[in-house]
Amino acid sequence: MNPRNRRVVDPGKIEQNMREICSALPEHVRALAVVKADGYGHGALQTARAAIHGGASMLAVASVDEGTALRDGGIRIPILVLGAVTGYDVKQGAEAGLIQTVCSPDMVRMCESAAMETGKQTEVHLKIDTGMGRIGIRTEKEKEQVMKTLRECPHVKLGGAFTHFADADGGEDGERYTEQQFRRFLELTDGLPEDVIRHCCNSAAIHRHPEMHLDMVRAGISLYGYPPVKTNMSLEPCMTWTATVSYVKELAPGSYVSYGRTWQANRTIRAATVTCGYGDGYHRSASGKACVLIHGRRAAVIGRICMDQMVADVTDIPDVKPGDEVILIGREEHEQITAEDLAKWSGTISYEILLSVGSRVKKEIIHSAYQKGDEG
Ligand SMILES: *Cc1c(COP(=O)(O)O)cnc(C)c1O
Repeated sequence: MNPRNRRVVDPGKIEQNMREICSALPEHVRALAVVKADGYGHGALQTARAAIHGGASMLAVASVDEGTALRDGGIRIPILVLGAVTGYDVKQGAEAGLIQTVCSPDMVRMCESAAMETGKQTEVHLKIDTGMGRIGIRTEKEKEQVMKTLRECPHVKLGGAFTHFADADGGEDGERYTEQQFRRFLELTDGLPEDVIRHCCNSAAIHRHPEMHLDMVRAGISLYGYPPVKTNMSLEPCMTWTATVSYVKELAPGSYVSYGRTWQANRTIRAATVTCGYGDGYHRSASGKACVLIHGRRAAVIGRICMDQMVADVTDIPDVKPGDEVILIGREEHEQITAEDLAKWSGTISYEILLSVGSRVKKEIIHSAYQKGDEG
């Protein structure tokens, strides 16, 4: 029997994607795997293990809590916290041996206190804002102030400097902006000590700008099989999301389906009720646009998507019955629905789709090899 609703993650594919990305990098360029937000919804720990097997030499998370959870899971390789240091959890980060992100003298001092209190040297990376407008130092003067503070803080070691592109997947104008950001990054990192690694590429820039790879690249969405721009790399989605048919019935012409009566049958149809709704993270905004796969064939979602259920038109698909599997994201026979498709129907991006699969959806992982680790 199928569970009501489940997502299946294949870490073998994550490993394969990581391998594919690494094989496109020259020897001296390291690969960092971005596993923030629970590994983009794929499970942070499994993703981390798979990425390490695939060649990642560093991981990145958004917060100290996310990094600590990886350490608790036995991950030993360097972990960079992408968010700026806060007084709230800097000590916890130092204790867990996480690399913390600094962009002000105060943040460096916080790291120094945390290092002294925990008795551990703390590594930091300097965040430079070259045009994203989020965290990061923007000027030479700010950089000098941070560098001066670093010299006064012997327990804090500067290991890297990085920036983030705002429009690396954009059109021609985005290209120009990215190049401008890159030049600014080179200027602001000029004169840093030799052993400070520099990194700036997210997935889009990894594919588009090999000349910007520098010492390390940060692979996020591509690791999960959704490169945001054209690429020769062969990258495969790693998550399948399914639900189940709970009921099938015939609806006479003139019948309405779901709230607001936005859909009306103009002929006799067979309608399958599906055990998934926006309470499971299937965006309500996809109403009237989405399709699902049943028996390897496309079925249109009709009427509004409800909290726990939705309805698919299965008139042209023979023998649909309660208990049948419904693919929301995934592949069956010659048909495929990707997170990209669902994103288009929902008016968002693949990132948000992968992350919005709800906590009510049962998580399963293929490949028991990654359940517990021998990772470095
Ligand atoms: C999330 C994030 C990434 C990964 O971006 P993708 O587009 O998913 O590859 C890289 N760097 C930083 C700073 C990030 O916040």
